[in-house]
Amino acid sequence: MNYYAKLIAYLKTPSKCYIPKCKAECCTNVPLPEGFVESKRGRIQRPILYAAKLGKNSPSDDFDSFIYNTTQNPIQLMRVNGKIKPIIPPEILEKMDPLPLDSQIAYLRIIYKPYENYCPFMTKFRKCAVYEERPAICREYGTLTDKQNQCSLKASPLEIIKDFIEIAKFALLHPFKNPYK
Ligand code: SF4
Ligand code: SF4
Repeated sequence: MNYYAKLIAYLKTPSKCYIPKCKAECCTNVPLPEGFVESKRGRIQRPILYAAKLGKNSPSDDFDSFIYNTTQNPIQLMRVNGKIKPIIPPEILEKMDPLPLDSQIAYLRIIYKPYENYCPFMTKFRKCAVYEERPAICREYGTLTDKQNQCSLKASPLEIIKDFIEIAKFALLHPFKNPYK
């Protein structure tokens, strides 16, 4: 591959975390190790309404994990008979019931997304308040090559450049408006 072909491939490959596009979706419903939130109590950004103990999130873990609810969310993730299950209100279960399993999961995602159950450490600007000390599960997601840790929301450098150009144009036309709203 010559230099230009490599450059084009690089520019078009989704490889970058770009929060304006992905809205830091990886920081929703994250199982955090037991004790982590307590150890960083001073940096909590969102009120914790409920914590669901999941047990071991991965078979190799030697600690339990918790998912923290920071939204008024009717769907809770809990460990039931050894499996993580969403506990869902009956009216939503009724709508899901006739759907095949794949569609049920897709349906759940559609319902769940608006609740934006971000991690307690996520700031209102969608930045991590404990970034340098974030746990392994956060460091690994989106950086490892195994399927479980790949992120489909990454942006290509070309997308980011195009977005910057759009933002610059917007700022020139509307100097007092927030381009991300
Ligand atoms: S891993 Fe994915 S969701 Fe998380 S910041 Fe990167 S692109 Fe966004
Ligand atoms: S600790 Fe930071 S990186 Fe991990 S889920 Fe929370 S906000 Fe995201």
